Amino acid sequence: MTAQEKSLLYDFLNKADCLFSGKVSSDFQHIDFKDDAELGTASSSSASSQVAAAQVSAQAQLQPQNQEIAAAQPQAAAPAAFAQTSASSASSAEAEIKKIALSVAQCNACVLGKTRTNTVPGIGKIPPIVLVIGEGPGADEDRTGEPFVGKAGQLLDKMLAAIQLSRQDNCFIANIVKCRPPANRTPLPEEAQACSHFLQAQIDILKPKMILAVGNTALHNLLNTTAGIKKLHGKFFNYQGIPLLATFHPSALLRDESLKRPAWEDLKLFRSKLLEIVPDYQSSYLNGGI
Ligand code: SF4
Repeated sequence: MTAQEKSLLYDFLNKADCLFSGKVSSDFQHIDFKDDAELGTASSSSASSQVAAAQVSAQAQLQPQNQEIAAAQPQAAAPAAFAQTSASSASSAEAEIKKIALSVAQCNACVLGKTRTNTVPGIGKIPPIVLVIGEGPGADEDRTGEPFVGKAGQLLDKMLAAIQLSRQDNCFIANIVKCRPPANRTPLPEEAQACSHFLQAQIDILKPKMILAVGNTALHNLLNTTAGIKKLHGKFFNYQGIPLLATFHPSALLRDESLKRPAWEDLKLFRSKLLEIVPDYQSSYLNGGI
C-alpha cells in the first residue's frame, strides 16, 4: 500500500469512530505512514500492523455500550487495584468532582435551574467502589444540597448497609438531574438530557466498579429503554464497561411494602457480583454506615 492509501484508511476509521461514539477519540494518534515499497518487506508488515491496530481500536469503540450481560462472565477481579489507589489520584479525583459541583451550581441549562433552591451534584466516597444513581432531588435534598436525605434517603442508607455499602465508606450517590423538579415530578427527557454530561463526567472520574440504578428514571436514562423497573430489576447490564443492576427506588418501597422482598433479592445479586469483582470490598465498610 502507498502511504496515502494507509493514511486514507486510517482517517476513515477515525471518522467512523467519532461518528459512532459521538466524541473525538483519544485512541487515534498521528501516524507517519510510509509506502510499502519504501519500507521493504519487514517494515511493510509493521506498517500494516499499525493499520490493523487502528482497526481493532475502531471496532472496540463501535461495540454497543448498553447490553444485557446477565449471562456474561464476571469482569476481571480488581481488589488490588482498588486497594492501591494512590492518595494523589484520589485527591485529584476529589478536585475534579468539586469542579463539576461548581459547574452544576452555575448551570441554568434547563428550566429546573429556575426553581431550585440548591443544586444537588452528589456526595460520597471518592473514589467509590459503587456508584448509586437515583432520579433527582426532592424537597429535603433541594433544601440541603445533598442527595437522598429524606425518608427515602434513610431507607436507601439501610438498603446499602445491608450489603456493607455506605456513602461514607465506599459509595458515591448521584442523580440523573441535579436540580429538583417542581412538585417532585419525574424529570422530563429534555431535562435529563441537558444534565447528562454532568453525570457522565462524574462516572468518568469516579470509575466505579459497579453501578446500582434505583428507580425507573435512572433505568430509562442510563439504558435508553422504556421498559419498566418491574421488568428489568435484578438483571445485570453493561454500562460503558461497568456492570449495572437496577432495583426499585426507595420511595417506591415506602409506598408499596410488597416490593421490599424483590428489592432485597436484587441487592443480594448485586453483592454477589461485587464480591466477584472486588472480593474484599466489605473491608472498606468501616464506619458501619448509619
Ligand atoms: S437540572 Fe442539570 S441541566 Fe438542569 S439546570 Fe440543573 S444542573 Fe443544569
